[in-house]
Amino acid sequence: MSERFDLIVLGAGSGGLSVAQHAARLGARVALFDPDALGGTCVNRGCVPKKAMWFAAQMADLHRLAADFGFETTPMRLDWARFRRLRDQYIAGIRRRYETRLQAGGIHVVTEAAHLLTADTVTTQTGLRASAPQIVIATGARPRRVDIPGFELGMLSDDIFELESPPQHIAVVGGGYVAVEFACVLNALGCKVDLLVRESLLAGFDIELVEALSVQMQAHGIRVVRNARVSAARGKPGAIALETADGTEHGVYDALLWAIGRVPNSSGIGLENVGVACDERGHVLVDAYQNTNVPGICAVGDVTDSRALTPVAVAAGRALAERLIGEHPDAKLDDSVIPSVVFAEPPLAMAGLTEQQARARYGDAVSAHSGRYTPLQWMVAGRADQSVVKVVCVGAERKVVGIHVLGPGSDELLQGFAVAMQKGLYWRDLKAAIAIHPTAAEELLLLH
Ligand SMILES: Cc1cc2nc3c(=O)[nH]c(=O)nc-3n(C[C@H](O)[C@H](O)[C@H](O)COP(=O)(O)OP(=O)(O)OC[C@H]3O[C@@H](n4cnc5c(N)ncnc54)[C@H](O)[C@@H]3O)c2cc1C
Repeated sequence: MSERFDLIVLGAGSGGLSVAQHAARLGARVALFDPDALGGTCVNRGCVPKKAMWFAAQMADLHRLAADFGFETTPMRLDWARFRRLRDQYIAGIRRRYETRLQAGGIHVVTEAAHLLTADTVTTQTGLRASAPQIVIATGARPRRVDIPGFELGMLSDDIFELESPPQHIAVVGGGYVAVEFACVLNALGCKVDLLVRESLLAGFDIELVEALSVQMQAHGIRVVRNARVSAARGKPGAIALETADGTEHGVYDALLWAIGRVPNSSGIGLENVGVACDERGHVLVDAYQNTNVPGICAVGDVTDSRALTPVAVAAGRALAERLIGEHPDAKLDDSVIPSVVFAEPPLAMAGLTEQQARARYGDAVSAHSGRYTPLQWMVAGRADQSVVKVVCVGAERKVVGIHVLGPGSDELLQGFAVAMQKGLYWRDLKAAIAIHPTAAEELLLLH
């Protein structure tokens, strides 16, 4: 006998929690399965612990800037164990709040993995069974592993948060935002970093700003090695050397981080039992309404091919609950303007299209306006590092389709611009707006 619900959700990460909580608020009887900690990747092994580390890195950088400003400073060293304890306490608090909210919402939480038996029934290893007319797959993704000699000598992004002490010299393999963020954070915290990038650095971000960030990363001491196809890792834990396909040896390092992408958690959950279709990389295929090819089964978040960002998973989950349980049969994710930030040093923020993406889509109708400036606090300190702002427009009316900022404060300043873009923002609006002076944000209004 299986217990019956209105909705079953597999995965209590950003997407799963969103759909489960909204559906319960709308009156649905919901069962939520997850064998792991509530909050999924973002809370436990992603955005939250990463951002806490980024704040620590920012403080180390500000301390150096303070010295340049004339403060008498003594060398600062992070008490890693204390920082870890504070960070982990904060995360435990988030999990407790989720637990309380799920309980208050009457959601039936099962701390076990579930897999599909049929299109309306799931089961667990201990033999629990639950049925519902709607099942949502929100099982997320995990770090990618590859079959090369010595792979086991390295860490994955999940492991970084478990380190007892910071490494002294680390090789970070990868060119995506996770690789760049860890490279910058560890570098700011005093670790020597080599970043080995196989193909492009930060694909999907505007090339002009990525190159400017790369220059600054190198100026801050990170060794960025391009075209580095790592073919083997050798040695032993604590003394690791890397070999690239061209025969070059790199290292020796006391730590190695593989940050080479993520793979969707779509196998072992019974999709084959009911014929749910996946793409060649294992992402569950969904339409704009999160429907899979099997009626009654939907999917949200990183297990699909959507942008792997928490707010995207949350928004997709909310819209899905509105559609399945609420009174909005047409509700769907609006992904027309997705803002995102690489928490590098300095941060790189973007909303909408890069200049390259806009040109590929709109050709000669694109106009791009970019400018460079040195932030006031750096100028005062005698630093010459340059920040970059860029606005990408389309058509005679110059509709803004992309905004990009590399520099201090870009992570916070872009959200408001992204809202304006979603509502329809034109170049003339930027020109007519009154700036806040002196700020980094005003640079976007001062472009020519
Ligand atoms: C290092 C790192 C930094 C990041 N930083 C950011 C950031 O700054 N900003 C941002 O927006 N995004 C960031 N992300 C991405 C963000 O974490 C993900 O996009 C988001 O967590 C996706 O949510 P999800 O619900 O799809 O999956 P997840 O959060 O991964 O949740 C999936 C859940 O499903 C569970 N599960 C798996 N199999 C089963 C099963 N069979 N049955 C039941 N449950 C199952 C898992 O245990 C997990 O809890 C980061 C990711 C990483 C790795």
